[in-house]
Amino acid sequence: MNGACIFCDIAARAVEAGLVYEDADSIAFLDTHPLFPGHVLLCPREHYVTLLELPTRLTGPMFATTQLLARAVENALDAEGTFIAINNRVSQTVPHLHIHIVPRRRRDGLKGFFWPRQHYTDDAAREAVRDAIEREVQKLKT
Ligand code: AMP
Ligand code: ZN
Repeated sequence: MNGACIFCDIAARAVEAGLVYEDADSIAFLDTHPLFPGHVLLCPREHYVTLLELPTRLTGPMFATTQLLARAVENALDAEGTFIAINNRVSQTVPHLHIHIVPRRRRDGLKGFFWPRQHYTDDAAREAVRDAIEREVQKLKT
């Protein structure tokens, strides 16, 4: 995509960004509104909206690069760990796939951030959901 996508523009070097890494498949740069300093976004160079569109030839390299950047962020920011996240459509504000790599420390204030947990009403409800997902996996694999 050209012109309409800010992350395509960053990948094409048409827009400035705080680049931390690039290779033939991907580019990584500082988030302009970080959860914490060192919050990095890793994108495929090609325009895919969500993880579901990413071709499998890129899933391995992107995951390996996520590991590399998570280590680099931990070391550079002296962090205790990282939070790795992808918003797919819901809560996704930039429609070009990006992996958030966020340095974390215990008691850093992100505790409870995001999702209030729920319970399955009973074992049957849990089993119905488990079964539905397992069936879909089987369908998609055949
Ligand atoms: P999401 O809400 O998961 O789609 O995340 C989009 C992220 O992109 C947000 O954290 C923004 O702060 C970040 N962002 C938006 N525009 C830019 C930009 N030009 N350079 C770097 N980060 C950006
Ligand atoms: Zn794009």
